[in-house]
This record gives sequence, C-alpha cells and structure tokens, in this order.
Amino acid sequence: MTLRLVLLGRQGSGKGTQGARLATHYGIAHISTGEMLRNAIRNATPLGKVVKQVLDEGRLVDDELMESLVQGRLGETDARTRGYLLDGFPRTLPQAQALDDIARVRPINIVVDLEVPRELVMERLNARREAEQRTDDSPAAVEQRLALYEEQTAPLIAHYRRQGVLAVVDGVGSPDEVFGRLLAAIVATTGLSGPGGDGRASR
Ligand code: AMP
Repeated sequence: MTLRLVLLGRQGSGKGTQGARLATHYGIAHISTGEMLRNAIRNATPLGKVVKQVLDEGRLVDDELMESLVQGRLGETDARTRGYLLDGFPRTLPQAQALDDIARVRPINIVVDLEVPRELVMERLNARREAEQRTDDSPAAVEQRLALYEEQTAPLIAHYRRQGVLAVVDGVGSPDEVFGRLLAAIVATTGLSGPGGDGRASR
C-alpha cells in the first residue's frame, strides 16, 4: 500500500517542517502548495505574477486555480506511484470536494490535523518573521491567514472526520516528540510504518 496523506494545521503549526520529515521518512512526494506558489513568484512565471499580491496580503488563491495546480501535480509519476503528502491543500470545502474527485481512483489514506493553539502559532510566526524576513509574513497577513483558517479550513476537519480518515495529533512539543506522535497516528490508521512499511507490494 502507498501512503497518500493530507496534513492540516494552522500557519506556524510546524506543518511544513513535519511534512518534509514525514515525506522523507516514507519516501513520498512532499507537495506544498505554498512552496509551489512561492517558487512561481520567485521565478516570475505567469502564475507567480497572478498570485504575488494575493500571497502578500494573506488572502487565498482562487479555488479553480489551486485545483488545477494540484490535479497536475498529483498526476505526475512520483505522486502516482510512490504516494504523496499534501501540505497546504485543501484549504476550503470546494478544494476538499475537488480532491475527493481527483483522488477517487487512489484514495487518501489519512488526513492529519496537527493541532497547535492560536496563541502559540502567533509566537512562532513572530519569531520566524524576524529570522527569515519573509515578506508574506507581515503581522496583518498573519492575522488574515489565521482568521481564514478558522473560517474556511477548520470545517474540513468535520468533512474528513465524516469520511473516517481523520487523525488529530497534538503539535505542541519538541519537533522529535511531535514527529513521534505523527508516526504513531499514521501507523495506527494505515498500518504503514515506513516506505512500503507493511511489507505488502506497492499498489
Ligand atoms: P502556506 O505556505 O501553505 O502557508 O501558503 C502560503 C500562501 O499561499 C497562503 O497564505 C495562500 O495565499 C496561498 N495558498 C497556498 N495554498 C493554498 C490553497 N490551497 N488555496 C488557496 N491559497 C493557497
């Protein structure tokens, strides 16, 4: 069995760091839509020009645009054959419904909600802004993103709970502690402990 995982969590929950670590551990593609968009902006591609202001203001990129971006990426060979970890998508209910359709043939095995309280992510994001000087991390943009998360993304938790694929993981603790909890949750739900971790042939 191949791992196809969605990681949900507020900005600053450690989703990016843990996502990269999990993807390496399982040998699957780490697909971060925020990274894809930031790369497009850095390279001044047509997509980058369209989305730059949206990212700078902490708003969400149009659902249709995001859906076609992700559909294209999930159709690439690595994601199809080895599995993937989606980080930053879906962010709205229409995106989740689009993903349900995209993943109908090869369903998502698990959706992990990495839970970190709002006050704590604010502290982490302030520290990150100072360390990395990210222009899309202005205090107003951060406020806007956290508000959008509660409004648009938090409802996805109920969507995936209904589908029976949701695991909630406490994201407060050292990176190693949190990684350990994530692995335990994935093993409990999917039986997969590493690349091809259940000993069965990939399908
Ligand atoms: P992230 O790195 O996931 O925090 O994403 C950074 C920014 O990219 C977000 O604040 C949005 O402006 C945009 N973005 C990333 N993923 C999505 C998505 N699935 N839907 C809409 N906008 C997105």
